[in-house]
Amino acid sequence: MPASWSIILSTGCSEPLSLPGLAWPIELRPHPSARAMRLRLDEARERLTLSYPRRMSRRVALEWAQRQSDWVEAQLAELRPGEPFHPGATIPFEGRAIRLHWDERLPRTPRLAGDRMSCGGPNEAFAARIERFLRSQARVRLSEETADIARRAGVSVRSVAIGDASSRWGSCSASGAIRFNWRLILAPPHVLRWVVAHEVAHRRHMDHGAAFRALEAELYGGDVRAARAELRALGPRLKRVGRRI
Ligand SMILES: [Zn+2]
Repeated sequence: MPASWSIILSTGCSEPLSLPGLAWPIELRPHPSARAMRLRLDEARERLTLSYPRRMSRRVALEWAQRQSDWVEAQLAELRPGEPFHPGATIPFEGRAIRLHWDERLPRTPRLAGDRMSCGGPNEAFAARIERFLRSQARVRLSEETADIARRAGVSVRSVAIGDASSRWGSCSASGAIRFNWRLILAPPHVLRWVVAHEVAHRRHMDHGAAFRALEAELYGGDVRAARAELRALGPRLKRVGRRI
């Protein structure tokens, strides 16, 4: 159980609780006649409600709710539509707001100048070209950052791959293959650097113990908590960017 929970659990307040991994705060509703736990999305109040049998412990109910994070995200994705790449749309890129611009006569390879990303060619291919461009930018940035941090850590990295795993921003195999979500290129550079530092630190320690955390902070260059909180807050939006529905 995360350390922060013990504080939450001891306050006994009826305010909604914010739990790691759940996008919305959660309101607890112990109920004498409830037979099972049930989680609902309260769209108007932007919170989750958790009803559960009164005899059940709060902790058990909360732990169950936290395991429903994939379901919550799927529900939220339905409520909050995607932000497709279309001309005139604003997207985050390296933490900045960038305006997408289309003019058929421009080169088909997107180009970033100031706060404008321009792309030419047929309009039907606009979204696909922007996504390809963002993925290639992500590959370059993440490969460079990984090489740089691995050099400082004195470890080897077998390969860097880019994907779009919905539940993870990065992963590192025992053999040294590191994968990143391309959407990290949308996040501020220090957030991207933290995820890279985290995965590279796994080249020395495959757990999240004290030695791992010390190395992760050293490679990142400071306390990682702010970057982690930022990615947690930004994550839901980053995952909507470019989605058609
Ligand atoms: Zn890890």
